[in-house]
Amino acid sequence: MKELFFASQNANKIREISEILKDKYKIVSLADLNDDMIVEETESTLEGNAIIKARYLFNKYGKPCFADDSGLEIDALNGAPGVYSARYAGENCDSLANMNKVLDRMHAISNRKARFRTVIAYICSRGEILFEGTVSGVITSEMRGTDGFGYDPIFQPDGGNGLTFAQMSSVQKNSMSHRAEAIKHFVNYLTRNDE
Ligand code: IMP
Repeated sequence: MKELFFASQNANKIREISEILKDKYKIVSLADLNDDMIVEETESTLEGNAIIKARYLFNKYGKPCFADDSGLEIDALNGAPGVYSARYAGENCDSLANMNKVLDRMHAISNRKARFRTVIAYICSRGEILFEGTVSGVITSEMRGTDGFGYDPIFQPDGGNGLTFAQMSSVQKNSMSHRAEAIKHFVNYLTRNDE
């Protein structure tokens, strides 16, 4: 079976993508490689950070590999927290602190439009290719729901019956999420090119 190296330490993401690709590819994670991958995400875009992580693996192992980067982009905050989503309230901060900072900044702002965006960078002998997925929605005025992670309790996707991502089952969230869409484009590409 063909191998695809994935520059991620996130067990949930590795499981999700391994499941989708299981008939054709074996996903080789950093844990499988026993690789700590110390790569600073120094770029100012999701694309840039996804590419640095994928290049790290490709330069080291020379195998087809990919990496992803995601973020929440809020229109009224000029796209923030964006690439800084994981550390919006400071280095080593938790999701609660990040959400409270967003809710604080959005207090009294009526334009609540936002989107989650995922970029996947894939590198193989053909070169570097980017895939994107987005889901549009609004920032709620308070946290709702307990499932999911990150900003899920304050993000209400369009077409989700008024629920936040944190009020949805993982199946429902994955049927409409930014990450699922980016993965779908990536898988379509792999299938079309029979790599
Ligand atoms: P990552 O690049 O997928 O690790 O995402 C970076 C940060 O964006 C995460 O730490 C979360 O704060 C936020 N984020 C990304 N995807 C989601 C999601 O599906 N729900 C909630 N927050 C997310």
